[in-house]
Amino acid sequence: MERSEFVLECQKAFDMNEMYCSEEQAFWLHALMVRMLEVNKTMNLTAITDEKMIILRHFVDSVTVSRYLPENSRLIDVGCGAGFPTLPLAIFRPDLRITALDGTAKRIRYVEETARLLSLANVTAIAGRAEEYAQDPNYRERFDAVTARAVAALPMLSELCLGFARVGGKMIAMKAQQASDEISLAKNAISLCGGELKEVVSCSLKQSDGEEEQRNLIIVQKITNTPKKYPRHFSQISKKTL
Ligand code: SAM
Repeated sequence: MERSEFVLECQKAFDMNEMYCSEEQAFWLHALMVRMLEVNKTMNLTAITDEKMIILRHFVDSVTVSRYLPENSRLIDVGCGAGFPTLPLAIFRPDLRITALDGTAKRIRYVEETARLLSLANVTAIAGRAEEYAQDPNYRERFDAVTARAVAALPMLSELCLGFARVGGKMIAMKAQQASDEISLAKNAISLCGGELKEVVSCSLKQSDGEEEQRNLIIVQKITNTPKKYPRHFSQISKKTL
C-alpha cells in the first residue's frame, strides 16, 4: 500500500471504531508498520503481515485503551513484545510517560530503537521479568496505570502486574477472548495483590466489510498496597496461581 492510501485506510479504520487519527499520526503509524515488517523478516515480531489487519489488530486495538488513561499518566506496559500497545499509544498520547517491559531482550532492543527512530521521547524500554521488576523499589507502586495485552491469563497477570500500580492507579488487561471465566478465577489473586475489579469494557473491532472482532478491557483498580511477598518468584507463580 502506498503511504497516501495507508493514511486514508488508517483514518477510516479509526473512524469506524469511533476514534480519531490525524494525518500526522497516520504518517507515524505508517513508519512504524514499514519498520516492523522490515525487521520481521529477520526477527519474530508479528504473525500479522496484512497491512489492513496491522491497522486493525495492532494499531486500532492498541489505542482503544487510551480513553482509560488519565492525562500525564505514568504507564508501564508489561509484556510489550513488539511494542503493543506501547508504540501506537506513544504516537497518540505524547503526554503519557511509558515504560515498555518485556522478558525478551531482542524485542526490547527493537522497541527502544523504533521509539528512537520515530522520535517517541515518551518511551523507555527495559528488558526483564515483570515479577522481578515489580519487587524493585524504583518500579514498585510507581505507576498510575499498567497495561498488558495478550500476556497471561488473568490470575497470573494480576500477580505480575498489580505490584507496579500505585494505590489509586489501575491495571488494564487487554483481552481478545471472553473475559468472564478468567475474571472469576482471578478474584483471589486480584484481591490478595491489592486490587478490585472496577469494570469490564467489551468492545468490538469493526472492519469496513462489516466483520467484527470481540475485545475486552478488564480494568482493576488498585485499592491497597500489594503485600511485599507478591509477586512471588516465577517458579511459584507458575506452580500455583493465587
Ligand atoms: N503485548 C504484545 C502484543 O500484544 O503484541 C506482546 C504479546 S506476546 C503474546 C507476550 C509477551 O509477554 C512476550 O513478548 C513475552 O516475552 C512477554 N512476557 C510474558 N511473561 C512475561 C514476564 N513475566 N515478564 C516480562 N515479559 C513477559
